[in-house]
Amino acid sequence: MATQTKDYYSTLGVKRGATAEDIRKAFRKLARRYHPDVNPNDKRAEEKFKEISQANDVLSDAKKRKIYDQVGFYSDNIDPAAAEAAAHGGYGGGFAGGGFPGGARADGRGGQEVPFDFGGFDFSDFQGSGGHARGGGAQEQAGGGFGGSFKDIFGGMFSGGHKAARGPRPGTDLEYQVSVDFWSAVRGGVARLEIQRQEMCPACKGKSATGGGSECAECHGTGQVTQMGGRMKFNIQCPRCGGTGKQQSGCPTCNGEGVVVRSEPLEFRIKAGTRDGQRIRLAGKGNAGTDGGAAGDLYLIVKVGTHPVFTRVADDIHVTVPVTMTEAALGAKIDVPTIDTHDGGGRTQLKIPPGTQTGQKLRLREKGVPSASREGMRGDEIVEVKIVVPHVQDERSKEILRELAKLNPQDPRAELLGEV
Ligand SMILES: [Zn+2]
Ligand SMILES: [Zn+2]
Repeated sequence: MATQTKDYYSTLGVKRGATAEDIRKAFRKLARRYHPDVNPNDKRAEEKFKEISQANDVLSDAKKRKIYDQVGFYSDNIDPAAAEAAAHGGYGGGFAGGGFPGGARADGRGGQEVPFDFGGFDFSDFQGSGGHARGGGAQEQAGGGFGGSFKDIFGGMFSGGHKAARGPRPGTDLEYQVSVDFWSAVRGGVARLEIQRQEMCPACKGKSATGGGSECAECHGTGQVTQMGGRMKFNIQCPRCGGTGKQQSGCPTCNGEGVVVRSEPLEFRIKAGTRDGQRIRLAGKGNAGTDGGAAGDLYLIVKVGTHPVFTRVADDIHVTVPVTMTEAALGAKIDVPTIDTHDGGGRTQLKIPPGTQTGQKLRLREKGVPSASREGMRGDEIVEVKIVVPHVQDERSKEILRELAKLNPQDPRAELLGEV
């Protein structure tokens, strides 16, 4: 039986004499509307998308378009010279069934026999890439050869996730946020989380389709169909089954996706000094590829927990320490907490200089977090002084403070008021 020839021009809604630019624009417009990413689970849109992609694949390529115009269909295996011969051999009007839409000639001449026999030609790989796994699972593989052309035209406009092209497809990257407590981030440790990732389908080994299958309805199991090009008969590989004669069926385990989603417990090391917002890349731990494609990567975005006393700023530790009025005025040696042990013993001595003001910051060198990137380096601990004013109750203390004020008749607001 003969396959139907397709009118690629009307598929794209352009005139026969359309320029390459007209074709490109028409395809882009239709592709945006029918792309599987925009129409998830819409079989009609998917079919339509394949049709326009196929039409575009041929019409956007000047060489292919010429052959299509000459013989009414396109195959990679048609010799341009043979197509030329068919076009000039006088086969204008007599196209089979009147169904040849791509006629380059309309001069009404016809009826001559072909001077050579195309019957034995191997027109394999009809339409760029053979049909594959048609009528299988929900996400059948697309048959029309638009794998390349679509990508070329749109670049990164659409993300992956559809089954456009055959062949190996790399897995996508995964990104997870992982919470790490304050101390594990400072000292290092082990974090655990459960991730959902696509793994290679164990049933079809990522091939999306299972072997065997029933007889192809298009070619009735012969693997070949006859295509008319004018009065010439071309025996070509069946576009539906790719010449196998069998209808491939989509893998039932993965619905033809080639991958199945599994949750996986994950354990990974947290380096000492890991910072909040840091990305950890685990190569090959992303989604599995299909049909032999490489797996994507897994990115873990670290969310570091807080601490009631210590605040972390990069590799520095900030801590606010209360100091009495007299310690601040006279100077003192006080104990301040450090991260060196978190079981209560972490402390070091800090000298408060005489006349220290509230809000003043004192630096303890190399008492901060060990650097994750620079071996052997540590941040600092920044101590912010907060002066605690005594609540005096007894008359004696009040007397001493009044006496102190008399001895130090300063006006701390003089400068402030002077500027207004
Ligand atoms: Zn499968
Ligand atoms: Zn077939």
